[in-house]
Amino acid sequence: MLSRSAVALALLVPILGACATTPPESKSMGLEPPVMSPPGDMSASERLAWWQHQLPRLSSEDRSEARLAMGELSLEIGNASEARIAFYEAKGGRLAAREMAQAERGIGLSYFLDGQVALGVPHLERSREDLQEPAQEEVEYLLAAAGGDFVEASSPVIEERMSVYLDAAHIKGPAVAAPSISTGAVNLDLTRSQWGAAPMRSNWDRMTTPYRIAVHHTAEPMTGTSVNASAAEVRNVQSTHMKDRGFADIGYHYMIDRAGRVIEGRAMTAQGAHASGSNNVGNIGICLLGNFSSQPDRGSSYATAQRPTSEQLVCLDKLLGQLREVHGIPANKVQGHRELKDTECPGDELARWISRYRMAN
Ligand SMILES: [Zn+2]
Repeated sequence: MLSRSAVALALLVPILGACATTPPESKSMGLEPPVMSPPGDMSASERLAWWQHQLPRLSSEDRSEARLAMGELSLEIGNASEARIAFYEAKGGRLAAREMAQAERGIGLSYFLDGQVALGVPHLERSREDLQEPAQEEVEYLLAAAGGDFVEASSPVIEERMSVYLDAAHIKGPAVAAPSISTGAVNLDLTRSQWGAAPMRSNWDRMTTPYRIAVHHTAEPMTGTSVNASAAEVRNVQSTHMKDRGFADIGYHYMIDRAGRVIEGRAMTAQGAHASGSNNVGNIGICLLGNFSSQPDRGSSYATAQRPTSEQLVCLDKLLGQLREVHGIPANKVQGHRELKDTECPGDELARWISRYRMAN
């Protein structure tokens, strides 16, 4: 028999804002992974099939909770009618108040996805009391926007996540905040919308006060310097992080392309997923595009280490200066990824550059 507590754990987490149907990316506590959740390397549709397969083996109570998870996954995939069916089926079982609120919220969101705002609003209104953050703020944000009253969400992540529902419902959202606000007064050369970022998913943690910076390389050979080449590469990185690794978004806060452009990554209000577990806490992730270490086992195109371009290093120096000033981070809190864990990242040459940076600043 599957334990009820394991399923409860798997389903409690999404309500708290870190969806357990995708693996929590950055847990500082030694939380045991829930027994009852799909493997972390599955796509949303594979996870959905995984839950479908489990259903007959579950008790009726666990089945209701599994259907909540399936509803969330269907929303993520954009399948409004499947999501609505799953949430209604969940409601048909025995649910705690908080779970009932999640089902109502899900039904409401599914109607928004279908462009049926008037049908969605009553469900969202029924859900608002018993939801937890950040789901509650997301619902309040949608309800205000549906009523023509544009409130500012406390985080650009919430606005970005809800923009999917507002767009589908043809509700014009509030003016998008300037990138410099959401990214901590850093000059961006390529914003998320410019490189075609997918919206962030639900399993993110709030960023605590940034006090350190970690520098990475993508470990993928890259020679192109055009905006199009960089945008395509960053979309690849985001897709790998979200689809293959189950992250909420691209793991890094900033990237720097071969021409020395600063590229916007995940919002600074969300903790990064770039340095493993507790290493992500308060840690701003910057990634330079290119493969700066020799990895012959990955094939001939990876055998030779590239060097960071001089444009990349000039840009990194400037970006580090801006971020350190904005957040009051001392130079000795700038590290290469390899200083946090056993990895080649960010390659010998960039690691040496970082050591020299710390001494010079
Ligand atoms: Zn790294």
